Amino acid sequence: MKRIEEMTFAERIYLPEILRGLVVTGYRFWRNLFLNIAHFFGLLKDRRSMVTVQYPDERKRYGDHYRGSHRLTLKEDGAVRCTSCFLCATACPANCIYIEAAESPDATVEKYPARYEIDTLRCIYCGYCVEACPCDAIRMDTYVHPRIWGYSRLDFVETKEVLMERSRVIAERGRGALMDDMIKSYR
Ligand code: SF4
Ligand code: SF4
Repeated sequence: MKRIEEMTFAERIYLPEILRGLVVTGYRFWRNLFLNIAHFFGLLKDRRSMVTVQYPDERKRYGDHYRGSHRLTLKEDGAVRCTSCFLCATACPANCIYIEAAESPDATVEKYPARYEIDTLRCIYCGYCVEACPCDAIRMDTYVHPRIWGYSRLDFVETKEVLMERSRVIAERGRGALMDDMIKSYR
């Protein structure tokens, strides 16, 4: 980067950068206008006129390592895998996991969560809960972003049932299913 004493007068008044910006804006404007007119007449349909993703009609696929909403994983019989050990709640820096443990109906497991809730308004999506879990009972591989609107605080509290249902939906309908449902609900 040049020091101010080394700059020309034009550079000091930002002239080259202003001209460069005008060229880019002008190019985009005329290109998009031309392509939009061509699309109107059914031509050049394979060329995009816009550079932005037209969400929600268009969507980018989230990366495989995207850390999205949580889900509670299930055992083969559909029961919740969580054993109510509280390690996730202890590791959570936002203190947003609430668990009520109860005696498990399964004789091979000591406890299960009668209640398991995540307050997503407080969650910072750090993933510590996932790392802390010793039995892979909680994951964030739902490929769906957190809910972005609601009418009250309670709308943002995700219950055990919601978290378990996400695992069922993914198992039955695949990785994009939760996002499809979310967009449908927004509409
Ligand atoms: S992602 Fe982080 S903040 Fe959110 S529930 Fe898990 S540990 Fe807590
Ligand atoms: S989700 Fe995992 S870490 Fe959290 S209480 Fe259940 S078993 Fe323990």
